[in-house]
Amino acid sequence: MNSIFFNEHGGLDKLTYGELPTPEPGPGEVQIRLRASSVNRLDLWVREGWPGLKLPLPHIPGADGAGDISAVGAGVDTPVGTRVVINPSLSCGECERCLAGEDNLCRSWHLLGETTSGTYAEYIVVPSSNILPLPERFPYITAAAAALVFHTAWHSLITRGRLLPGETVLVVGASGGVNTACIQIAKFIGAKVIVIGSTDVKLGLAESLGADILINRSNEESWSKAVYLATRKRGVDLVVDNVGAATMMHSLRAARKGGRILTVGNTSGPTYEIDNRYLFGKHLSLLGSSMGTHDDFRRVMTLVLEKKLQPVLDRTYPLTDAAEAQARLSEGEQMGKITLAI
Ligand code: ZN
Repeated sequence: MNSIFFNEHGGLDKLTYGELPTPEPGPGEVQIRLRASSVNRLDLWVREGWPGLKLPLPHIPGADGAGDISAVGAGVDTPVGTRVVINPSLSCGECERCLAGEDNLCRSWHLLGETTSGTYAEYIVVPSSNILPLPERFPYITAAAAALVFHTAWHSLITRGRLLPGETVLVVGASGGVNTACIQIAKFIGAKVIVIGSTDVKLGLAESLGADILINRSNEESWSKAVYLATRKRGVDLVVDNVGAATMMHSLRAARKGGRILTVGNTSGPTYEIDNRYLFGKHLSLLGSSMGTHDDFRRVMTLVLEKKLQPVLDRTYPLTDAAEAQARLSEGEQMGKITLAI
């Protein structure tokens, strides 16, 4: 099969387009002829590598995927030809956390394209429990664009953050995939949404998704103060911060007493100092969240497939141009999801 892969970690030039063996489904698995994938920051990090990461090489990146079932293994009765979207969160289904319904805490948890072969390819094999059928004519690109970011956003806001109607949410970042998903989910739940963005164009996108209050951090030296004033000196109930080093102290300041801070990533770097007095003095809860459970995936993707939530689509590149697609993501100029047509 044709695919994009790398044989060593490094820059964009390590991505190669070429032939690799087509994977065959074992018992309980399905083979999917992929039609669409999307580009996530994870793909860049995996390509660059990190200390301790030991991947079987060549490695195919890509967590998101949608396509048609092309073969099934023993014990699977889903018909060949079924159009599906993939849940990229792989779990054993047997350990204590899996049996408790917290399969994203599985002892042998893996993410498609991170430690296993991913979706920048014509074919992939996944467990049959990791697919969800698509309605007739639902675009593969839209499904692939939604999967990881809406899954992540739903698990963090709803399952971890326990967001309630009427609460105020602060989303740190206006245009990325997880942020645009968070804005939509928060509005869908009936929350009030404040968005911090770096440009008026990106904030315009947030506004079009229903954000109630927009704050341009280029104009506000201390944007946490702007949030404080916008909430009549109360602070917000919940903050979603996937930026990390550059923003976490602002996020701690912007939360109300007893508020919750969701940390769902660190696009500006993983290591930073915080003033601990904010945590205990304001009775804050700092909640880590990554990906989601099978149940979260079904719940949020059902809303996406019903078009109650809609991923924002940036550009679509052919699979052969995956390096160009990754370059666009690393430049940070995208508005929503960058996708690959296969
Ligand atoms: Zn497990």
